[in-house]
Amino acid sequence: CGIIGYVGPREAQKVVIDGLRRMEYRGYDSAGVAVVADGEVGIAKKAGKLANLEAEVAASPLPAASFGIGHTRWATHGAPTDANAHPHRSASGRVALVHNGIIENFASLKAELEAAGVEFTSETDSEVAAQLVGREVDAGADLADALRTVSRRLEGAFTLVALDAEQPDRIVASRRNSPLVVGVGDGEMFVASDVAAFIEHTREAVELGQDQMVDVTRDGYTVTDFDGHVAPSKPFVIDWDL
Ligand code: GLU
Repeated sequence: CGIIGYVGPREAQKVVIDGLRRMEYRGYDSAGVAVVADGEVGIAKKAGKLANLEAEVAASPLPAASFGIGHTRWATHGAPTDANAHPHRSASGRVALVHNGIIENFASLKAELEAAGVEFTSETDSEVAAQLVGREVDAGADLADALRTVSRRLEGAFTLVALDAEQPDRIVASRRNSPLVVGVGDGEMFVASDVAAFIEHTREAVELGQDQMVDVTRDGYTVTDFDGHVAPSKPFVIDWDL
């Protein structure tokens, strides 16, 4: 339901959870965060309110990190449980991914992955995307290429944001029939489903078009289409009053 990704000098977990709080007005049933430190993905996710997630990270802290992703879930496939909360991790553990929307063809993709020996840890449609991106990356794909390849295969509605433990300070995101905006900061970058997630940090934003994706580092972003061509992007200034 609400998605945020962050790359920059601030404490990623804090920026992500603060961003999730700014999107609470949309409603949700679970929340989670993933960060990378020392080449390892750390994930905390809980059913219920953000306060449950905050209690979880207070009890079992995630490491300090310079990039991370977060999600508030409104369940469509699978009950609102801790296991079904996002982020989802790929089988090898390298990739973490969050998803808004519904992947209509998830059942056939899941069957294909299960036939290849992948064990799922949730009942969501979303985990299919995490496992597919994970397999691309495990096979040597660049993270953006991996997300592009997978996005082309998915039917339905999605905003996806993913990170790879072995590609530090980088977040990739894609969209189809679901919103995605980039927040352009000074030495820091955001991706989100809603500008509310990062408005306290920057007013410079870029809206992605249908079937586009973005590759984000601390210092810049590249928008491409699902064929890999650089796509025209639509920068704008957020003029809301806070
Ligand atoms: N379909 C996904 C799920 O049920 C994502 C739902 C959402 O947009 O929050 O986990």
